[in-house]
Amino acid sequence: GLVKHFAVTRGLIRRKTIGLVRAVEDVSFEIARGETLALVGESGCGKSTTGRLILRLMDPTAGSVRFKGKEIADLDKDALRRMRRHMQIIFQDPYASLNPRMTVGEILAEPLRVHEIGDDASRAARGRELLEIVGLLPEHARRYPHQFSGGQRQRIGIARALAANPDLIVCDEPVSALDVSIQAQIVNLLQNLQQRFGLSYLFIAHDLAVVKHISDRVAVMYLGKLVEIADKKTLYDRPLHPYTQALLAAIPKPDPALRTKRVMLQGDVPSPFRPPTGCRFHTRCPHAQARCSAEEPLLREAAPGHRVACHFFETIPAPTILARAGLA
Ligand code: SF4
Ligand code: MG
Repeated sequence: GLVKHFAVTRGLIRRKTIGLVRAVEDVSFEIARGETLALVGESGCGKSTTGRLILRLMDPTAGSVRFKGKEIADLDKDALRRMRRHMQIIFQDPYASLNPRMTVGEILAEPLRVHEIGDDASRAARGRELLEIVGLLPEHARRYPHQFSGGQRQRIGIARALAANPDLIVCDEPVSALDVSIQAQIVNLLQNLQQRFGLSYLFIAHDLAVVKHISDRVAVMYLGKLVEIADKKTLYDRPLHPYTQALLAAIPKPDPALRTKRVMLQGDVPSPFRPPTGCRFHTRCPHAQARCSAEEPLLREAAPGHRVACHFFETIPAPTILARAGLA
């Protein structure tokens, strides 16, 4: 039930709240140990905010986050700091997130120092070990971030996230800033690390192509709301929400036999400051009817584990299935 509203203010001296951005509205999901849940949607849909709420890097307006059975909102400052050791984040821009004045060794020792793990010598040894774990060299510890390529910098960011042996890592578009050729390497590395260390990932991405191989389940967000959630196979083979269908149709497909009838997204994402009434997707939905602008659809169960927020999902044809049957 996570909710996050940001106040929009005007005026420098007498700040006046002129409205609310409803960045996250009643979002609920769970992530199992060792699982990857992908959180997908266009920029501004609230996915990064959701990731930060889970890590309690910001306070929710309402709702609850439970981690390993404990309500995070109930933790005092010390307990929250101890809990943080087990939850880490990897950022989109590995350059901006690495301090340019620190050596890689210092960057990797930092989380251990913060959590009072080990002494200087053992932290340095752990740093060298982490570099090998992410496919770099122990002697890279002496270098500075600018001496590495984008892909290598992201490996350093991953090593830093791993330093204190976390259980959950929020991966906030970790490959979006990288060349396509490097993206697969980083995704493979994250997958190997997950198996090796039993990690859980919340993997945030703005398209469905990137998460196809790494996700176990996929949640799709639109303008602050969860519109569909399902296991990966169901979501890619039988997407029920028109927005998910449009995101899938946007993935370029090399094999013409697998090409779906293109569901084009019309127009831009509306402002989260004044989201459309009823179904927030109605201004862009090719299947919208009168009811859609009047009444907000609830997330309903289409099948066990598959939830969809659309009034008409029972009657909207799934384009992928039509294409496979040669009907489209
Ligand atoms: Fe489209 Fe209506 Fe379904 Fe919203 S509720 S996705 S506008 S058909
Ligand atoms: Mg983001």
